[in-house]
Amino acid sequence: MNDGLIADNLSVKGSGLQFCGQDVAALAKEYGTPLYLMDEDCIRARCRTYREAVKRAFGERGRVLYASKAAAFLHMFRIMQEEGLSVDVVSCGELYTAYKAGFPMENVWFHSSNKTDADIAFGMDLGVGCFIVDNTDELESIDRIAAERQFRQDILLRITPGIDPHTFDAVATGKVDSKFGFGIETGAAEAVTARALELPHVRLVGFHCHVGSQVFDSDVFLRSADILFSYMDRIRAVYGYVADRLDLGGGYGVRYVVSDPALDLAANIAEVGARVKALCERYAYPQPEISFEPGRSIVADAGLTVYTVGTVKRIPDVVNYVSVDGGMTDNIRYALYGASYTVLPASRMDEPAEMNCTVVGRCCESGDIIQPNVLLPESTRRGDLLAVCTTGAYHYSMASNYNRLPRPPIVMLRGGTSTVAVRRETLDDLLRCDA
Ligand SMILES: *Cc1c(COP(=O)(O)O)cnc(C)c1O
Repeated sequence: MNDGLIADNLSVKGSGLQFCGQDVAALAKEYGTPLYLMDEDCIRARCRTYREAVKRAFGERGRVLYASKAAAFLHMFRIMQEEGLSVDVVSCGELYTAYKAGFPMENVWFHSSNKTDADIAFGMDLGVGCFIVDNTDELESIDRIAAERQFRQDILLRITPGIDPHTFDAVATGKVDSKFGFGIETGAAEAVTARALELPHVRLVGFHCHVGSQVFDSDVFLRSADILFSYMDRIRAVYGYVADRLDLGGGYGVRYVVSDPALDLAANIAEVGARVKALCERYAYPQPEISFEPGRSIVADAGLTVYTVGTVKRIPDVVNYVSVDGGMTDNIRYALYGASYTVLPASRMDEPAEMNCTVVGRCCESGDIIQPNVLLPESTRRGDLLAVCTTGAYHYSMASNYNRLPRPPIVMLRGGTSTVAVRRETLDDLLRCDA
């Protein structure tokens, strides 16, 4: 039972918060704060949910790629390999991390809206499975760089279906005005498809689309599938080209606060499966390999950030600030898009939470806010622990060293044990690149 807490991996014992059945205060004592904790059992369970749902829906012609930008470090790639997922990378840094983790390169797909020639060459030299091409400059570069290496590079083209996913603007990517991909409405998609089919050193294996993030039902996936199948049907009619793969992107949402809906991943993927089957029948199209690229929905609610309170500043009739020992350096999402969070008084779980406050970080920016309008116990004071839930995705991966703050460690919790997956940065680490 989770005492009404936001996730199953949270519970309360006495005054203390427990995560994965382990005492948060004891973990904070052992590893220090700020601290990223990750529930490895939860990550693995989510991988299996995806794999099984995709297998039920598409049989052997289905694939799950973990969008590693959500959280990329060696241990995470090893988990993905063990769980049989493929991965997406968007940079040489993510690619190199996957490579060093021993991840099979043919199951790595290389995204990004602006790959340099060096990125492309590095990807080819490591042998990535395919590139997802986002613009024509890149397409020509891939053809040329593959020609120098005398081979033919598999590619997908990123198509913009022109759908508004009704999410934060900063994470909506499938509208016609998007910086990502080739629009169908504008004719860009067809023009680049024709070009890709002419180039001797690329092999067009199919199409990709990704409409946005933090979406709570399958509507955008269904509409994307409708639009992409209609597009593929037209391309087959004009060019005789049949796509072997269709990647529907990522974006399934997670609950950051109790008012966010809970999503049944398996049921949603089954719905997409039924639609793809119907579309294949309607267009008499051989079923392409269908892939999903979840990031957030695999790792977000596996994460919990633990902070120590440094001070409480009460400005009567105005606001109470509770200041913690991290901030926008380890969690930039409120500053970036006003994201919502559940914040728990990890060492005062048995007290009524009646003090309205703004939880702020320690950086020299007024915008360094973790969350406004948080209810914490009146007795909150220096030395208390606070926990911010659902921080497994886009936290460590967006972390910075602003104010020369060292980044927190990532500690993986699994079956009652804890291990460091990423150690805490030291002050000397901060000087590593200084000449
Ligand atoms: C970010 C991204 C994803 C993952 O999105 P989530 O919301 O984390 O599931 C998948 N595909 C592409 C192309 C992306 O840019």
